[in-house]
Amino acid sequence: MPFVTEWSTTDKRNLVIFAPDVLRVFKNYRQRFFWQPESGGILLGRRRGKHLEIMLATEPSHKDSRSAFSFVREADGHADLAEQAWRQGDKQIDYLGEWHTHPQRVPTPSAIDRHEWGKLILHRSKLTPILVVVVGTKSIHAELISGVQDKVLLPVGRAQ
Ligand SMILES: [Zn+2]
Repeated sequence: MPFVTEWSTTDKRNLVIFAPDVLRVFKNYRQRFFWQPESGGILLGRRRGKHLEIMLATEPSHKDSRSAFSFVREADGHADLAEQAWRQGDKQIDYLGEWHTHPQRVPTPSAIDRHEWGKLILHRSKLTPILVVVVGTKSIHAELISGVQDKVLLPVGRAQ
């Protein structure tokens, strides 16, 4: 179950679809070798009811500080990209979440990840969960978080 287009929560209530471009970004920044740095960015797309369509994953900008064991996102660069995409997309493109890489085959979120994700949803509506993705070398870990209930996503679609 590697880099799959369609994902669903185990209760089948939420569907997440990654555009091919998004999966391409994930693949390009995979940490296949231990010396490659952690990367990450934000996820943009559309909400369709309870479902998310991820249309764009921003790539690491030169402002980001990258190392093999940490990824410190420089918020400005990504926020600019998000705003650009939003303007070009007739204001239908929304911030949907965050992604970053791990040097693991099957990635598991760290305690720091959980802490950072907690901050992301602190001031958000509980009704609009955001998507957090950890990209490993062989598969990704995807979760919808809202502060009420975190829902792990499982692949339902075909591998790219
Ligand atoms: Zn992490």
